[in-house]
Amino acid sequence: MDVTTKPKTATAVPAHALARPTREEAEAAVRTLIAWAGDDPTREGLLDTPRRVTKAYGEFFAGYGQDPGQILSKTFKEVGGYDDIVLVKDIPFSAHCEHHMVPFFGKAHIAYLPHDGVVGISKIARLVEAFSKRLQVQEVLTAQIIDAINEHLNPRGAAVLLEAEHMCMSIRGVRAHGAQTVTQRFTGVFAEEKSEQDRFFEMIRRR
Ligand SMILES: [Zn+2]
Repeated sequence: MDVTTKPKTATAVPAHALARPTREEAEAAVRTLIAWAGDDPTREGLLDTPRRVTKAYGEFFAGYGQDPGQILSKTFKEVGGYDDIVLVKDIPFSAHCEHHMVPFFGKAHIAYLPHDGVVGISKIARLVEAFSKRLQVQEVLTAQIIDAINEHLNPRGAAVLLEAEHMCMSIRGVRAHGAQTVTQRFTGVFAEEKSEQDRFFEMIRRR
């Protein structure tokens, strides 16, 4: 594989070409966008909006400050011999598409077959958070989640399925309200054995 096309490791946070702007600069940029939308950023109802938007960005994009390797660093070896599928399903997530900076949101289903121990199940949800609270593409988000699980948990196999609605498709463009985008990726035993994939799908569907 050519070095220039080599994917970043799962833990990598993108390098910045620009220094991080100050909060004042960020608020000024929001005022510019309000004016671009056609409104008056100095009218009363909008005066505090730049402050609120920059604060909200702290939540929308908190993932840049979170390290997936750290989240998955603590594993438990004493599992009473348990070696079957660990599935955490219906993990709600919201991200922002990197093309339009509008939300896409849905559910993540994540499974792995333990080999070197298991991780606390809440850490799986935190892993999704670390990657989804960034500017994202659903396909990349799917790959980053499974790559991090493989890298840090060394499982016999992993399976990730994401289903999401993209606001950039439902409130603009084709306005396909309710359309769901599904992405999935399998590694190890889940990639090699269709019966394991089928078990994953069956467990996701089970209510
Ligand atoms: Zn988009």
